[in-house]
Amino acid sequence: MKYISTRGQAPTLNFEEVLLTGLASDGGLYVPERLPTFTRDEIAEMASLNYPQLAERIIAPFVADSIPADDLRQLIHDTYAVFRHNAVAPLTQIAHNQFVLELFHGPTLAFKDFALQLLGRLLDYVLERRHQKVVIMGATSGDTGSAAIEGCKRCKNIDIFILHPHQRVSEVQRRQMTTVVGDNIHNLALEGNFDDCQAMVKASFNQRGFLPEDRALVAVNSINWARIMAQIVYYFYAGLALGAPGRPVAFSVPTGNFGDIFAGYLARQMGLPVAQLIIATNRNDVLHRVMTSGSYGRQTLEHSLSPSMDITVSSNFERLLFDLYDRDGAAVAALMRDFDQGDIHFSEQAMQRARELFSSHRVSDEETCAQIAATWRDCEYLLDPHSAIGVKAALASGLDRQVPVVTLATAHPAKFPQAIQRAEIGVEPPLPLHLADLFDRSERFEVLPNDLSAVQSFMANNLGA
Ligand SMILES: *Cc1c(COP(=O)(O)O)cnc(C)c1O
Repeated sequence: MKYISTRGQAPTLNFEEVLLTGLASDGGLYVPERLPTFTRDEIAEMASLNYPQLAERIIAPFVADSIPADDLRQLIHDTYAVFRHNAVAPLTQIAHNQFVLELFHGPTLAFKDFALQLLGRLLDYVLERRHQKVVIMGATSGDTGSAAIEGCKRCKNIDIFILHPHQRVSEVQRRQMTTVVGDNIHNLALEGNFDDCQAMVKASFNQRGFLPEDRALVAVNSINWARIMAQIVYYFYAGLALGAPGRPVAFSVPTGNFGDIFAGYLARQMGLPVAQLIIATNRNDVLHRVMTSGSYGRQTLEHSLSPSMDITVSSNFERLLFDLYDRDGAAVAALMRDFDQGDIHFSEQAMQRARELFSSHRVSDEETCAQIAATWRDCEYLLDPHSAIGVKAALASGLDRQVPVVTLATAHPAKFPQAIQRAEIGVEPPLPLHLADLFDRSERFEVLPNDLSAVQSFMANNLGA
């Protein structure tokens, strides 16, 4: 399998190279040159596979030239063995033809574990073979940081530095990062806001000279191809549970960076019958505006009750654009240049194509709380605010009632107690058992000034892997 850039000017890479690369050198994102596809019969045969077996079947063609089948099996087995539900991604019914796919049974209680648990293991495996060590650097306002740290905590060849804005992440989220112990784990609390953290990461990727020459800097943000790949699996898993390939299914996806829902699009391109993909956004609605107006513009960030979807630029949307524009890298590069100057306007043909499969819905904080309360009242099922946005969008989608709709439940409600309180249903979600003592564990983090050289010298002096 070869990977090409959405802007058409970067070298073609194999899986191992793509794993270690973030942005392509032309500023684009890597996508498979040709997607593997499964026939109806092949999909029908997958119905008997459990989650890790299915993951192996779906992922194998993407990594075949880089990872032998037996090693892949072991890596996938180890990855999903840490999830605390036997089904890994269990499906729950909440109303007639309305289902919730619970993606929060991993170590940090959010769907990002599906990709980052695998990514950590894939990286360590490849690095071991290459006798190489790397440094991961990332900024987080919450979920990504803890999932990345959990994914890398047993990696012998990786130092991970995660920057969070000091005193500006929730206590649950901070503790999920800072209570993980390991010489290779470094939590940096920056005296600044999230944008300062991101700027610092960006600047460091642009001038890597502060690290020893043999330590490459690797990104694990949501543009990393391996993360998208891992997320394709659960679309197949849910579809098969509801009768695929005999019966099409729709998915409603709480969306920020467009990574998760893009994986659903790929599942469909690979042969899974998908009736519709619903883009569910909070008031940071850049994607909803794209779908309704055909133009993509920058907005100012607004804080919502669903913080993991608070974004203004949806990076992975470029991967869809590449297909909407017939995989014409020059056309995508031209559009993205426009974006640097102001708004992008998409062609009518591209928008028509997008609307054949995607619909969108924006959900306010008030509607989010109302949905949490309504679902609780209807079936005593507790949604987290992100998942509630998905369910609200699913119910509002106007889809034919014969089509089952699966909402991806991207986080456990205990991660977002404020939203649950605001819903005024009189319950407080307890943390699952493995995190019940989270508030008693000791924390380790370094408070650093908002100063690039202070951060970089701390990193250079604290490599532990
Ligand atoms: C990251 C995240 C999202 C958004 O996922 P994207 O892939 O960025 O669209 C939604 N919900 C939760 C809980 C998340 O952590």
